[in-house]
Amino acid sequence: MSGFPISEATPVAFSDPLPASCDLVIVGGGIIGICAAIFAADRGLKVVVCEKGRVAGEQSSRNWGWIRQQGRDLGELPIAMESIRLWNAFQAELGRDVMGLRWSGILKASRTEAHLARSEAWLRLARPFGVDTRILTRTEMQDMLPGAAAPFAGGLFTPSDGRAEPWVTVPALARLAQARGVVIREGCAVRRLELAAGQIAGVETERGRIGAAQVIVAAGSWSRLFLAQHGVKIPQLSVLASVAATEPVAGLPDLAFSDGDYAIRPRADGGLTLGPGSEHDFFIGPDAFASFFPYLPTLRRDFRSTNFRPWPPRGYPDGWTTPRRWQGESPFEAMRILAPRPNMATLGRAHAAFRKAFPAAGPLRVRTAWAGMIDTLPDVVPVIDRVAALPGLILATGMAGHGFGIGPGVGRVLADMATGQPPGHDLSRFRFVRFAEGGPPDFGAAL
Ligand SMILES: Cc1cc2nc3c(=O)[nH]c(=O)nc-3n(C[C@H](O)[C@H](O)[C@H](O)COP(=O)(O)OP(=O)(O)OC[C@H]3O[C@@H](n4cnc5c(N)ncnc54)[C@H](O)[C@@H]3O)c2cc1C
Repeated sequence: MSGFPISEATPVAFSDPLPASCDLVIVGGGIIGICAAIFAADRGLKVVVCEKGRVAGEQSSRNWGWIRQQGRDLGELPIAMESIRLWNAFQAELGRDVMGLRWSGILKASRTEAHLARSEAWLRLARPFGVDTRILTRTEMQDMLPGAAAPFAGGLFTPSDGRAEPWVTVPALARLAQARGVVIREGCAVRRLELAAGQIAGVETERGRIGAAQVIVAAGSWSRLFLAQHGVKIPQLSVLASVAATEPVAGLPDLAFSDGDYAIRPRADGGLTLGPGSEHDFFIGPDAFASFFPYLPTLRRDFRSTNFRPWPPRGYPDGWTTPRRWQGESPFEAMRILAPRPNMATLGRAHAAFRKAFPAAGPLRVRTAWAGMIDTLPDVVPVIDRVAALPGLILATGMAGHGFGIGPGVGRVLADMATGQPPGHDLSRFRFVRFAEGGPPDFGAAL
């Protein structure tokens, strides 16, 4: 796991001098910001990416590394499918296997017929999009997962889904962006937007002003805090997801799979990346209170898989003492990298469930554990849209645990948005104004 975790001790790798002006500033050097930069530079824009900490220091290096079309919201599915092609194009351009990209498939195993029926329902809706997903029978599951202690009722399998090693992939893509002329600056928090005559005129960073007629905010869990100072309101919150990495394990199939209680992915170094099926932690801060009603249906759905914690750690985006307005130094400089402590009890439960399902694999030896804050919205799909009230502002946030896999497709869409080209997909699902329109969240067909 060389290069992981990315922390403030990680040497700065991107320190390009900032220009006085450019065509497009991107706030956030996660996978979304970096992919948008690559495609925007391809379209001839002069692009600057400002990252307060390190490229991929937050979610974009901390995720499981699943590249998944399977089970996606039907609005997201075309972007997820396009992303598969774009991942291959990146791989071809990198010219060697730096990302650990493998198209080994993703499997969702069902213990019960009722669970399998939900997968079947999704597949009926997704099939017209051209996915290669199929339902596996009880017998096929035995072939796919030999060594499972108890038979599965069936499974949902997508052979064209895959995986990559996040903490090497995103910095490698940042180097691709740099090679196209993108300016990338780590340790450079954007404090606020600059406006002139009601339009975007640039950004104020901790290292000075950059003039630009367009800004993409791809700031992950910090997006709500960043936007609120300009009166742009989104009901975005974050949940803490814990992950463990094990020592190498023999005798398991070479694919990523989950069964509801745990999820595993083989890593390039032979170990497994192990996470809980759905369990996560949620810190209750002032934004959580303010968003109680928009999230009520989401809460009802996820109540049993959520560990509620009353005190967000100091400096977190929704911390009780985190300033909502500032002059000079901003909360983004006060916390360069959001690196939460993992919930070891959650990981213990995931480990126990895995051992019960695969006793022959023996106890897993955990090498390290970490966590990340997943930014989400009440309907669990992102905002990818312009903000009409602030011409020049584009939002790409609330990736809700999907952003690594769909990052290339989202980046391509954002670049076309910034250059006034048709986005190629129906983006109505990702409208910024949908929350202001009222009504309960539309959870769509996602699994
Ligand atoms: C444990 C875990 C498992 C996951 N598993 C998967 C998976 O298997 N597959 C998948 O597709 N997705 C997965 N995800 C989700 C995925 O990681 C995210 O959706 C994706 O990384 C989001 O990318 P992003 O660029 O939007 O945000 P981030 O990666 O969070 O990047 C945002 C960046 O913006 C920077 N920033 C914020 N504010 C400012 C500012 N004011 N100035 C400058 N910089 C700023 C931050 O420092 C940060 O680096 C997982 C996430 C977690 C935490």
